[in-house]
Order: sequence, then C-alpha cells, then structure tokens
Amino acid sequence: MAGRIWAGTLVAGVACLLVAAVSRVRRARARREAAMRRLCKRLPKVELHAHLAGCARLATITELAGEIAAPGARAHAALGKLTLDECFARFGAIHRALSTEAALKRVAAEVLADFAADGVRYLEIRTTPRALRDVDARGYVCAVLDSIGKFERDAGDRAMVVRLLLSIDRSGPIARADETVELAHTLRAERADARRLIVGVDLSGNPSKGRFVDFAPALARARAAGLPASVHCAEVEDHAEMDDVLAFRPARLGHALFLSAAHVEALRAAPIPIELCPTSNLTTLRRAHMREHPTAARWLLDDLRTTEAYPVSISTDDTGVFGTSASAELARVALELRLDPAHVAHLAARGLHDAFEPANSREMLTLRARCARDATIALALHAQELRGAWA
Ligand SMILES: [Zn+2]
Repeated sequence: MAGRIWAGTLVAGVACLLVAAVSRVRRARARREAAMRRLCKRLPKVELHAHLAGCARLATITELAGEIAAPGARAHAALGKLTLDECFARFGAIHRALSTEAALKRVAAEVLADFAADGVRYLEIRTTPRALRDVDARGYVCAVLDSIGKFERDAGDRAMVVRLLLSIDRSGPIARADETVELAHTLRAERADARRLIVGVDLSGNPSKGRFVDFAPALARARAAGLPASVHCAEVEDHAEMDDVLAFRPARLGHALFLSAAHVEALRAAPIPIELCPTSNLTTLRRAHMREHPTAARWLLDDLRTTEAYPVSISTDDTGVFGTSASAELARVALELRLDPAHVAHLAARGLHDAFEPANSREMLTLRARCARDATIALALHAQELRGAWA
C-alpha cells in the first residue's frame, strides 16, 4: 500500500515537473517572439513595393465609399482571405472610393504617415495615374507630388525619404501606358520636384489580363529616358511570359513566384533584385506559412548557405488590403523562417541597394549611414532584452 502511494506521488511529481518545464519553454518562446517583433519594429526599414491605393487605411476607404455611395465599395471593406480575383475586386472598390483630388491627398498623407510611424526610412510608393472626378491624370500625379512635398516639409527628410514610381496597368490599353511614360517625361521636364521624386515606372495589374510583350516598348522608352522599371511577374504560372520578362531584364521584379528551374538558374547567374511580399503572396496563393511560400526559403535560406545571398527585399504590397505593415512582414519572415537577428537587420534595409534613387545622392549617402547606426542600436537592445529574458 505504502509502495503504491509512493509510486503515485512520484508519477504526480514527474508530471508536475514536465508541465512546469513545458510551460517554461512556451513562455520563453513567447518572450523571444515578442522580442523579435520589437526588433522588427525598431529596425530601420526600406519599402520598395507598395501601391498607394492598396495601402489606404480601410477606415478611410469605408468612410469615402460611404460619402460617395460607391457601388460595391462597402461590400469589399471587410478583411478576410482573398483570392487573386477578390483582391482585384477590392482594388476596384478602392479606386471607386478614391474619386477626388481631396480624397487622393488625404489617402497619400495617411499612407506616408503610416509608413514613417512604422520605422520605414526609404519608401518607393507606386500609383497608376488616372483621371478623377475633378482632375485629369496629370492632376492626379501632381496631387501625389504635392502630398510628398507636404510630408517632406512637415516631417523633414530625416523621417523618411519618399520616391514615386508611376504604374502602368497591364489590364488597360497600351496607349495609356505610352501616355503614362510621356506624362513622367513631361512632368520631370517641367517640375523640379517631379525630377527629384519620380524615379521609375512599374508594370502591375491583373496578371491574367494583358501581355508583358505589349507593354515592353513603353517600359523600354522609360528606361531609355532614365526611368528604370519594376515589373510584376510570375504571379500566375506562365513560363513563356517569364521568359519574355527575363529577356527584357527589368531593374527589379515584383513577386516572381512561379519560376521554372531554367528561370531560377538564369536569375542566379545574373541576379535581378526581387521584391517579395509575404502576406500578399501567401494570401493570393491560399497558403498559410512562409515555409509554403514558393520562393522565400530558396532565396533567403538555401542560397545563403551555399553562395552569396540573392538580392531580395521584403515589402508589403498593399498594407490596407492585406491588413499588414512593413514591421509585421519582416517579423513574419523572421519568425516563420527562423532567421537570426543579424540576418533580419540586413533584410530590413536590403532594399537600399536596389532602390531607384541614385546610390550616390546626398539623401542615400546620409540614409545608409543612419540606417547602419540605428540597426546597430536596435540589435544591441534586442541582445540586451534576450539576456534579460534568460536571466
Ligand atoms: Zn504589387
């Protein structure tokens, strides 16, 4: 009897010790994850792939949609899992809500403030020029330039360097692509702020509509005039189109998700920087974890072990549509791919090397030094926090 009691007490004791050990490990993991999120928030970040309208605050779009009673706008205001088609339906609703110059300026001001508050130090924001109810496409771009100017005056360029890409919508007419490139040239010739702020073009829009080759001549004209292109590509499986994109050799690639072995080999041999947008990519591909992302582990882990790191930057794509931020995207990659803090700090500012702003400009030289200093401070704080957590 006494032996049975003793054995029972022993089992209960061991069970208690096990439960305590498991909960200690869980608490330690939660503390490490929270510390990593704080590191991602503190680190100076570079955002190269963000669409102005897609980054609008959902509350603002809902309010604007209510003001103008845009059909369908409210129906798309709730967040949820989205297919690629649903994303483009939501973009359509946002475009309908964003219908006046005042609305555009409000959204632009909020988007810039949100990125700056999140610790982004260099932002390339992209947008498709179009006529609104009260301004034409030129007026649209001028309104965005004015908003960036106001941000610079109010916040100072120490807060965040902002540059603008004009987007070409591949689902629209080719003639409009030519008009967009022409508009960029004209504005750069006429306005000093446009010459400084418009640094490139982007090809985007519904990947199941339009063909890259039809828009390549407009992108080539932009490139010849000193405006490099970032091209959304391989969002859907179309290896023939990806062949055409690689033959063109844009300055940067957006997403580049569906790549054949030959594409990967070609990119490794002659890298073109890739803008990865984790939550956007996983949402539209209906996948849940970064380990299931078609290319992230390859570019961020495999290549690092075997060769030099591939030029990849982490971006948000559309903070409003996907309910995310630059810090959240970085933390997602860091935690789900288990990156070490130094790698995360490198990744946060990696985009500085691939920015369209000239590398030797006064802003970039200052920015690089400041980002390096602030990343060192953030890493030191992170190490201190971890030591505290284990003490
Ligand atoms: Zn995009």
